[in-house]
Amino acid sequence: MNFPCVQCGICCKKVNTVLGFQHFDDGNGVCCYLENNLCSIYKDRPVSCNSEKFYEAFYKDRMTECEFAEKILRICHDLIVESGNKCNIEKIEKAIEDFELKKLSNESENNGKTFKRRSD
Ligand code: SF4
Ligand code: SF4
Repeated sequence: MNFPCVQCGICCKKVNTVLGFQHFDDGNGVCCYLENNLCSIYKDRPVSCNSEKFYEAFYKDRMTECEFAEKILRICHDLIVESGNKCNIEKIEKAIEDFELKKLSNESENNGKTFKRRSD
């Protein structure tokens, strides 16, 4: 999955709100592995921080990658709005739009296949 993270770091500054992440909290809600707004353990980050692995582990039987990425982006969008730091919001909105279009295009492709099979 090519998740378009804009590296705003906002999700890493709210680990006190994530179940199971309390031991990552530096006392201010910020992950103790966040350095210069980047993950210092990126290659070994937990599954919950890795959209690809998280999708594979918990969501692949429930939705497409595209639907999953769009859902996560909407959460990122809300976190960014809530933080008041909207410098990345346009990139996120554009990415949501792209995923919506991709989803629609996949749906219409699938409908086309269904239609084709029915008309065989
Ligand atoms: S809030 Fe979203 S866009 Fe920002 S760093 Fe986290 S995953 Fe990336
Ligand atoms: S482990 Fe890395 S990606 Fe996960 S919350 Fe901490 S800094 Fe962010």
